[in-house]
Order: sequence, then structure tokens, then C-alpha cells
Amino acid sequence: MIISGKDLAKKIKADIAEKVPVLVEKYGRAPHLAVILVGEDPASQSYVKSKGKDAEQVGYKSTTIRMPESTSEEELLAKIAELNADDTVDGVLVQLPVPKHIDEDRVIEAISNDKDVDGFHPANVASLWQKRPCVYPCTPKGIIRMLDEAGVDIAGKEAVVIGRSNIVGLPMAKLLLDRNATVTVAHSRTKNLAEVTRRADILVAAVGKLRMVTADMVAPGAVVIDVGVNRDPETGKLAGDVDYDAVCEVASVITPVPGGVGPMTRACLMENTLECYLNHMQGK
Ligand code: NDP
Repeated sequence: MIISGKDLAKKIKADIAEKVPVLVEKYGRAPHLAVILVGEDPASQSYVKSKGKDAEQVGYKSTTIRMPESTSEEELLAKIAELNADDTVDGVLVQLPVPKHIDEDRVIEAISNDKDVDGFHPANVASLWQKRPCVYPCTPKGIIRMLDEAGVDIAGKEAVVIGRSNIVGLPMAKLLLDRNATVTVAHSRTKNLAEVTRRADILVAAVGKLRMVTADMVAPGAVVIDVGVNRDPETGKLAGDVDYDAVCEVASVITPVPGGVGPMTRACLMENTLECYLNHMQGK
């Protein structure tokens, strides 16, 4: 079974789009997402464009702030402070990565916790690990939604997450753990990776290495979620961390790249924006 993140994302966005006019009626304005892009990285430009397009599609107000590569950390922090203080803005997101001369941690910390639609703020991360109410980071949240949609029973399963970044791998492991999977987190220092991954009922690859998960690393019938986004140098097209054609023959459920986790990440960003807006409007 191939899980189409694209179709599920469409459904989620259609549900939101239906709610927005009612909310505008009730609260006097639509949710407002502000996205900051520093520099001209082509992949980041395309992500930011898609986020803006999604926001407009669901009926939100969307503001994209483009700042030059030469922007100083102080200038970026000042812009974030301005958006934090703006009562008409519900969600603030800085597209990562930021240029090397800017401290990413300081940027993440500067975004007001109640506008942190990415769920990357340390206070939000702490709440996630302490099982307190929080904004779930978009990519892991989207993956759980896809697993649910595919009817995958997570509880009691062996899950292996390859990758331990703050953005994907670690929160993914936590969300799987919260759904009662037994979770192993693999990384670049893991010995005998194939031996580890072959134990997985649910395998999530979040590495950023083209087709590194080969068919011999996957147990027959496993569920395989491919988070990786890589450019295939031969075709110039996007491809995942999973050798899709070969692994399709072994896995019971698989996500494609593109059209899998990516669209779901953006759909969950729209959900998170709605959540921040509602908290804001209801004075929480
Ligand atoms: P990072 O580079 O922050 O993390 C990569 C992880 O992979 C690290 O934990 C690293 O281990 C591990 N790793 C690297 N090489 C190996 C290896 N040979 N074997 C096992 N583990 C290895 O990346 P992100 O987590 O930010 O992103 C991962 C991928 O997901 C990227 O392709 C990114 O573009 C994509 N992505 C896709 C999204 C979507 O919406 N579809 C959203 C976010 C990311 P170590 O910790 O030891 O260095």
C-alpha cells in the first residue's frame, strides 16, 4: 500500500478551509501565518512558496518576509520581535536553515512560544517530552496521521527511526513512544544499521542520503516512512532516503517522495497555525 500524503493533506486542508469562514465570522479575522526567509537558497524558496500557497488555499492571511542573505542576527531577531508583538499575527516561522552567520538556536528561541507553529521552541519541546499540551512538530505529526490513515496499529510495534535531529528524528521517536511503540533511534554512529532496521515493524528514515535504505534493510511486511528529500544527480528529480522501487517489493506500506511526508508536513503546519490562532482568540 502506498500512502499518498498528497491526498490526505488535501483532505486536511479542505476541512480547515471549511472552518475558516465560520471563524472569521466569529472572531472578526482569519488566522495569519508569517513566514520569514533569509537568503536565496532555492529549496528554502520553494518551501516558503508552498507554505504561503497552502495558507492562502485554506483562507488564511499569509505574509512572507524575504530578507537578504546579508541580514544580521540582530536584524532578524528584531523582525521576529516585531511579529511577536503584532496582535494580528498568529503564527511565526523562520525557514531553516538560516545563513551560517546567524545562530539558529537564538532564532528558534526568539519566536514567541504561543506563535511557534513549527513546535521547535525549547519550551514547546520540553512540553512535548513531558506530555504536556504543546504544538506537535509538523513532520512527525504528519507521519502519525499517515500511519493512522493507513490503519497501522502502532501500539506494541517495534519502530526504528533513522536520524536524531531535533526537528524530525527525536520528536518522531517521542510520538511513536507515546503511541506505545518500542522505539530504537539509529544514527550515523549506529553499528550494523541493517541489522537494526530489519527488526522494525515501522521504519522511519530521516537522514538526507539518497536511497540509503535498501531492500535488504527492510523486514518483509514492514511499514516504511521516507522523510528524506534528496536531489538525484542523475535525473535531477527529488527522491527519498529509501530505494523506493526495490523496497516497494518488500514493505507492506510505504510513502513516496515526493508526495508523501512533505505535503503532510505542510498540512500539519496549517493545523498548527489554526491551533495557535484559536488559543490566541480564546485568550489561552
Ligand atoms: P539532519 O541532517 O539534521 O539529521 C540527519 C540525521 O541522519 C542525523 O541524526 C545523522 O546522525 C543521521 N545520519 C546521517 N548519516 C547516517 C547514516 N549513514 N546512517 C544512519 N544515520 C545517519 O537532517 P533532518 O533531520 O533535518 O532531515 C532529514 C531529512 O529529512 C533531510 O533529507 C531533510 O531534507 C528531510 N526533511 C523532510 C521534511 C519533509 O517535510 N518531508 C521535513 C524536514 C526534513 P548523527 O546524529 O549521528 O549525525
